[in-house]
Amino acid sequence: MSELTIDSIQTTILDVPLVRPHKFATTVMDKQPLLLVEVRTSGGVIGFGEAVVPGGPWWGGESVETMKALIDGHMAPVVLGRSAEDITGIMLDIERVVAKATFAKAGVEVALHDAWARSLGVPVHTLLGGAYRDSVDVTWALGSAPIAEIIDEALAKLEQRMNFSFKLKMGALHPAADTQRVLAVVAALEGKAGVRVDINARWDRFTALRYLPQLADGGVELIEQPTPGDQIEVLAELSRILPVPIMADESVLTPHDALEVVRQQAAAVIAVKTTKCGGLQRSRDVVAIARAAGVACHGATSIEGPIGTAASIHFACSQPGINFGSELFGPLLFAEELLAEPLRYGDGKVALPQGPGLGVELNMDAVKTWTRN
Ligand SMILES: [Mg+2]
Repeated sequence: MSELTIDSIQTTILDVPLVRPHKFATTVMDKQPLLLVEVRTSGGVIGFGEAVVPGGPWWGGESVETMKALIDGHMAPVVLGRSAEDITGIMLDIERVVAKATFAKAGVEVALHDAWARSLGVPVHTLLGGAYRDSVDVTWALGSAPIAEIIDEALAKLEQRMNFSFKLKMGALHPAADTQRVLAVVAALEGKAGVRVDINARWDRFTALRYLPQLADGGVELIEQPTPGDQIEVLAELSRILPVPIMADESVLTPHDALEVVRQQAAAVIAVKTTKCGGLQRSRDVVAIARAAGVACHGATSIEGPIGTAASIHFACSQPGINFGSELFGPLLFAEELLAEPLRYGDGKVALPQGPGLGVELNMDAVKTWTRN
């Protein structure tokens, strides 16, 4: 048995409180559940990954509970006894027993990368071809408080030089009221910072045709996934008629989805989440397709905690194709620090953590505190 043989894989659900409620089109979260995936090699090296979805199953059909069941019951038997460096083979074999479930697979795949990199004494980005940059720009997602409070939140972030661009979630209110709310924020930040919106696939084609031109005219700099994910042709139509870029998120989970978006010229930017894409390798396939077609990629988040965020930072910093910044702010939304040494944010960026593996160490007392009983 080699030192790299995986002899245990464990999953733990945490519920970590947020600094303020985070609102999506169909749900509000005041805590974020995380599924911590821990693999241990016979050489005693521990690798961590995080399986995490944004506040529940509304986004992609997975939740921490379904991910725990799939990993414990169906993926663990594939992983146990294999070598941590056999990531490609392990993930292909998992594909044979578990369809879709990309968020759960990402948790396992990242834990394998962390364990393998730690065994070699190198950072995870080394396994991805090396660091191409040592930090990445971070856009901040503003909350759903009254307009004045949202503007104050943005101005405070600008003042602290934490973020220089902002994203607003839409889709929870009537489209007319929602549009007015966003335009008021854009007007207040004009000349200070760019504002983009994410409609999380909640509008139909007619609603999008009616309100998106108003958002573009009012100065919104980018529109993320206004219409349903599978309606690529609607996204393409909107891309043709709007003067601002469209970002595809729900429309792209797989490399083939990326190919379809490229073929139909449906988006100028693709949101790449290492979670929804099923890990670092598959995210790289998505970025490669986008890059070949001249489509930009954004390092997006499903509100990962520090482990998932660190993995996404290693990914973003190793890929020239992640050329439209990131929203890797997840840990800043958490009220409790889970790391011994927090990720470093500042000057509109987050820094690539240094050291072996993901370059971050969990504070196991904090993990214990927020573990679900
Ligand atoms: Mg999105």
